[in-house]
Amino acid sequence: MTCLPSRTPSADEIDIPALKARYAHERDKRTRSEGQEQYARPTGDVVEDYVTDPHQPVTPRDAITEDTDVVVLGAGWSGIMAAYQLVKQGITDFRVVDTAGDFGGVWYWNRYPGIQCDNESYIYLPLLEETGFMPSRKFADGREIQGYARAIADKFGFADKALFHTQTNGLRWDAEIDRWRVSTNRGDEIRARFVIIASGVLNMPKLPGIPGIEKFKGKMFHSARWDYDYSGGSYENPVLDKLADKRVAIVGTGATAIQIVPYLGRYAKQAYVVQRTPSSVDERPNPPTDPDWAKSLQPGWQNTRQINFHRAAMEAFHPGDEDLICDIWTEISRNLAAEFAEEGWPALTPEQFMAKRDVVEFRVMERLRRRVDDLVEDPATAEALKPYYRFLCKRPLSSDEYYPTFNRPNVELVDVSLTKGVEAMTEKGFIANGKEYEVDCMIFASGFEVTSDLERRWGIDTIEGRDGASIYDHWRDGPRTFHGVMTAGFPNQFYMGYIQGGLNASVTEQNGRQGYHIAHIIAEALKRGTPVVEPTQTAMDAYVTHFEGNEIDMSAFSRECTPSYFNNEGEGEGKAKWRLFRAYAPGWDAFQTLLTTWREKGDLEGLSLTGSSAKSLGR
Ligand code: NDP
Repeated sequence: MTCLPSRTPSADEIDIPALKARYAHERDKRTRSEGQEQYARPTGDVVEDYVTDPHQPVTPRDAITEDTDVVVLGAGWSGIMAAYQLVKQGITDFRVVDTAGDFGGVWYWNRYPGIQCDNESYIYLPLLEETGFMPSRKFADGREIQGYARAIADKFGFADKALFHTQTNGLRWDAEIDRWRVSTNRGDEIRARFVIIASGVLNMPKLPGIPGIEKFKGKMFHSARWDYDYSGGSYENPVLDKLADKRVAIVGTGATAIQIVPYLGRYAKQAYVVQRTPSSVDERPNPPTDPDWAKSLQPGWQNTRQINFHRAAMEAFHPGDEDLICDIWTEISRNLAAEFAEEGWPALTPEQFMAKRDVVEFRVMERLRRRVDDLVEDPATAEALKPYYRFLCKRPLSSDEYYPTFNRPNVELVDVSLTKGVEAMTEKGFIANGKEYEVDCMIFASGFEVTSDLERRWGIDTIEGRDGASIYDHWRDGPRTFHGVMTAGFPNQFYMGYIQGGLNASVTEQNGRQGYHIAHIIAEALKRGTPVVEPTQTAMDAYVTHFEGNEIDMSAFSRECTPSYFNNEGEGEGKAKWRLFRAYAPGWDAFQTLLTTWREKGDLEGLSLTGSSAKSLGR
């Protein structure tokens, strides 16, 4: 089925220079000089710390002392895809370590009411053809996704390799035994030849550093640690009946909050939605999977779909491409392709292409603002809910229930944009625009440590490579890697994630390819009997020079955007080297070609291979 271009206001109906000025004004209104320092990490003094698991009791176990080939740190998608690729390479002596009680990462921790993936599940859920699993609907529920994560671990035989409810607190390279010494909060001492750090991007909750937050006497929790004992209902059946006599405030209006807010509207006596920046929220048709469509799929279908999505979301459709996804992520490319088709696919310079794309983008954002007027009855509330920033300054969202929730008498939008966030908290509630709002409960849907200092994100106290050098010092001014996955001075240590590599619109596709590259290097090192592998300084420097010389320059776009974790909270270029989504400008395919060519050459060029498999462990 081909989807049609969306009905957006015409170019004549929008005034782009005026909108640009408005966007700049809205950005400046919210930009805080402290940048990322405005946030605090949950410590246990204010809300439960991030390690405490409200979902599943921690089972006592004896500390483990053992030797293994690989330790994968993280059991979310990046850890799962790394583990899967190890298995495919025949490496089965490994451990997966995670603070959670099961596989799933964000899908383990985040169990708030209404949780659903807002990327199409036929793309987002990895390995669908390999497992034979078909998601039940276009946007799958969190429970289904977490269950599928677990099912992959079961199917590919690494479920029993996991150490759950385990926080890694030290990684030390021991040159005497050519292994990493991995220590944990459960007293484990694991000696691993290789370590893959697969912490994910959204692993570490953060709180707004609101003055007086510790004074509040009511209930507080972060959205990633939902407390059903307090709210009533359960993850399986989120009927939040205990909120019937409660005044609840939710801080944040991002991807998480817009899924929670309809539930607060339905169940709480009073819900305050505390908003600094509105999200853009499109409609969300979410039909069940059509069994006839599922039956009709031909081998290779998922990759075809992922390529189609990547093109739409990050590049552009080619002549003849049809939009297989048809949602807010693909709308701009779909509309643009329709325009180009009408014009006979004119040859355009990159500047001409971007100029045309900009117009389409402004029209789409205007459509989304008009959607608010159509759905929200109170004009002042509707106005405050309209997003005034460029598409992709924030994650584009979809929900059919979010805007209508503001028509309920028990729901109030509290706009805190003028004070750049909640002004303060008191014993009884919070202060916004000079008024105290008394509440029983504050829910922080305030996001995660995405681009803050590495120590805060990884949460591993000590990572020491050769000669006791700390990775945190080594990368203080930004990452330096070989292929985005290794660094000199830290032999046998690998990184999953968005570090100096190619960028795919599907995070799980990106994880899979990265895991494959890492597993290949580990397998080759083991096969050759030289299991200490490390990029040479020269090769790493050459890679960094190549990457930075071919990096997409996002600085102008970043500067234009309203603050968020996409642009380091508006910190400017100071910490640009840790900006999320640094990407290889020649594109995802070109990056894959670079890696494939390197692998096929077969000599692991740029890596030094030393050590001996026979080396004594010297315990
Ligand atoms: P975000 O970081 O996107 O949002 C945090 C929210 O908290 C923002 O609205 C922010 O406002 C607000 N906030 C922060 N500090 C203050 C303050 N001092 N006063 C008032 N408001 C404040 O976190 P989310 O958890 O919503 O989403 C994070 C990511 O998780 C998403 O971008 C997405 O990648 C992922 N996610 C994915 C889902 C899916 O379906 N696949 C579902 C949910 C999340 P401001 O915007 O002004 O900074």
